[in-house]
Amino acid sequence: MNRVFAELPTTVFERMSQLAREHGAVNLGQGFPDDPGPEDVREAAARAVMDGPNQYPPMMGLPALREAIAVHYARHQGLTLDPDTEVMVTSGATEALAGALLALIEPGDEVVLFAPMYDAYLPLVRRAGGVPRIVNLLPPAFRLDEAALAEAFSDRTKLVLLNNPLNPSATLFGHEDLALLARFCCAHDVIALCDEVWEHVVFDGARHLPLMALPGMRERTVKIGSAGKIFSLTGWKVGFVTADAQLMRVLAKAHQFLTFTTPPNLQAAVALGLGKDDAWFEAMRAGYARSRDHLAEGLRQRGFTVLPAAATWFLNIDIAPLGHHDDVAFCEALVTRHGVAAIPVSAFYPEEAVRHIVRLCFAKADPTLDAALDRMSGLA
Ligand code: PMP
Ligand code: GLN
Repeated sequence: MNRVFAELPTTVFERMSQLAREHGAVNLGQGFPDDPGPEDVREAAARAVMDGPNQYPPMMGLPALREAIAVHYARHQGLTLDPDTEVMVTSGATEALAGALLALIEPGDEVVLFAPMYDAYLPLVRRAGGVPRIVNLLPPAFRLDEAALAEAFSDRTKLVLLNNPLNPSATLFGHEDLALLARFCCAHDVIALCDEVWEHVVFDGARHLPLMALPGMRERTVKIGSAGKIFSLTGWKVGFVTADAQLMRVLAKAHQFLTFTTPPNLQAAVALGLGKDDAWFEAMRAGYARSRDHLAEGLRQRGFTVLPAAATWFLNIDIAPLGHHDDVAFCEALVTRHGVAAIPVSAFYPEEAVRHIVRLCFAKADPTLDAALDRMSGLA
């Protein structure tokens, strides 16, 4: 058995959802929305299930979807991508991450990671033989810091893995942060793997800037996206990778033996969805921003300290002012005794640098949020 995987606990999202089911809790833990996703996209998928395509699509993805991804990123982020050589469809961002790490790391290569980090990153880096160099980003700001980067990067650094916007802290890194990181990537000749699955879920008029767009980064950035987040269809697992053709050739070698292809019917529907107009994207963001504000306001009224949330479906509360310093114990009591599931953010810090932050998913209808708020009354 492989030691890295044998010693892993089951992911915190699965555990908390299981506890939520057992205790009849309102589930604000695992990130999935109440919104069923756009009807026309779901109808297109249903039609494609009945009429096809239903056989193996090309391994790089349906041509119509690769074309739609290139057009989409040109329109929304000003990127110029060749759909034939620089775009690949994967079975979710998760496959894209696993494949990229398998394809790009040699055992012993150093990989710079930022905590809090999505829980899949570290086991995948380790399983690929990478040597993690972790930079802790601390609440409440969770900003990149030049001194910490200088300490983490070395001649042995081969790859840096950035999640922007960042789950779970809901931070959006802007031009200044990205330029700082780009400077280190160029100086140390490092590949940047940029998990941008939350690229469209940004609030308050802010815009997502892809790391790939920064000077010197076009040839060294692998950008990952996910239709699950864009269209509130998390179970679909349709992801996309964009990268320079030379990198893509290697990424495709991993993809061909991980999943090879992704359901073609869902790909056809995502191709249609990516063409939605600006008004649709604005409405989607506005809807989630309203839910964020609803939950944040309700929590503040009940005495909780709420951290800012610039992006994603998540907001965080600081439980230290309530006298709590163990987020795992807090979340266990919250789900078992009070009927609300949340995620302890220490699960995203491999070095347990932070233990007083709790993540709540606000991508829910108001009655769901109100039910959770009712159950949290009197806790702070
Ligand atoms: N990366 C991040 C930062 C995520 O938050 C998620 C899922 N929430 C994923 C990757 C996985 O995406 P997918 O479901 O497309 O595999
Ligand atoms: N990415 C989702 C979250 O952050 C959950 C994904 C999963 O369940 N593995 O909650």
